[in-house]
Amino acid sequence: MHLVWSDERGVIYDAPTWQAVGRSGFWKYPWSSYPSWIPLPEGSTLFHLVGRHPIGISPKGELRVYEKGWAVAAFIAPAHTQLASAAYEKVSNAPTLPLYAYTAVGWKNGRFYVPAVRIDPQPRQDIRHFDPLAINRGAEKLRKRFPSNRLVAHLLDNCVERYCCPAARNLALGRWECPLPTSPACNAACIGCISLQEKHESPIPSSQERLSFIPTPEEIAELAVYHLNHAPAPIVSFGQGCEGEPLLVWRTIEEAVRLIRRKTPRGIINLNTNGAWPDIIERLAHAGIDSFRISMNSAQPAWYERYYRPRNYSFAMVKESIRRATSMGKWVSINYFILPGFTDQPTEVSALYQLIQETGLHMIQWRNFNIDPDWYIERMQLCMGNLQPPIGIYALMRQLKRDFPRLKFGYFNPTEKFIRQHITPLPASQGNTKCTV
Ligand code: SF4
Repeated sequence: MHLVWSDERGVIYDAPTWQAVGRSGFWKYPWSSYPSWIPLPEGSTLFHLVGRHPIGISPKGELRVYEKGWAVAAFIAPAHTQLASAAYEKVSNAPTLPLYAYTAVGWKNGRFYVPAVRIDPQPRQDIRHFDPLAINRGAEKLRKRFPSNRLVAHLLDNCVERYCCPAARNLALGRWECPLPTSPACNAACIGCISLQEKHESPIPSSQERLSFIPTPEEIAELAVYHLNHAPAPIVSFGQGCEGEPLLVWRTIEEAVRLIRRKTPRGIINLNTNGAWPDIIERLAHAGIDSFRISMNSAQPAWYERYYRPRNYSFAMVKESIRRATSMGKWVSINYFILPGFTDQPTEVSALYQLIQETGLHMIQWRNFNIDPDWYIERMQLCMGNLQPPIGIYALMRQLKRDFPRLKFGYFNPTEKFIRQHITPLPASQGNTKCTV
């Protein structure tokens, strides 16, 4: 697997006598240490990393910096999980990288390869399924059907047009998961928040802006009922990248969910959340939320709280939220931010095991962490001295599969059919109707 590098213009070359290297936090390993290299998935983006020289195995077989050009990294397509980050050495004034994941890249037999696995077989966000003309037609149809619905306007004008959001495009195409952003504010201040980067402390921009209004329960229900009744394998999801934390508008969501379930029993109502408040999670579960996805960079309270900087909640409360939801027969996934060298730290693995054992969560969604690894290390005040060599993301996956055979892996929120197949229904007396799927 040849090392790849780029010139100032971003033209990419391979170095046929150098071997590629992957990075796992503070550690660097030859490409062959990572058990899965796949052709660069369609829909991925390649970056040339200005101010960073690639590290590789030189013709003499030594780990060396390749001074001739800049490093290259891949922002790999959805449904794929990275096993190694790009390995490079920074020059002194190298700029902080924006909020993307930077996966290692190599070259072999005339094509680019990345150390990754396809973690979810569903083609929901595969680029070849996004026909721009069909998206425009679908968007026009929704605009005509909901002329005064501000949420629909936000999703079409902002999310489809400006951000090309795959979830919003699937809405326009009338299929799979429909996003329902609702909250302009948040009760956390994540270092790598994609919807809010404070200028006074962050050298990089947020990836998108937060919506500026709270839709009414009627606006939410109108769109959700339409999607649930028309789309194949439908899901509607609160908690999107273009908002803060949905729990802050729980009354609106509670009312909207009731309105939706009065109109249709079809599909899944999902809540993507930071899971801060167990009582509210329980209340929304009673109202009719079918599944929850709780986001986290770490299962270790110290690392979680250093990254999320929670306001009036703690990791213990997040854990309690998961435990409450599973005990009510709800499907619970964690949206686990994967950063090789940290996610696979032995201390992190033990904490993850404890979280799974104590909460009964059903699924890990293996999401690549959209952050500059060096900036994460700096802001989290991490140092090699306090860490151990990582076990490897691939090894972690295999271990979890062996020790938790019922635990599911994925990338996307599961459909009603999938949940019905894999969740043990609660006795009717214990849970409320819809949630015992
Ligand atoms: S919980 Fe979400 S919206 Fe809130 S700060 Fe973190 S990433 Fe941003």
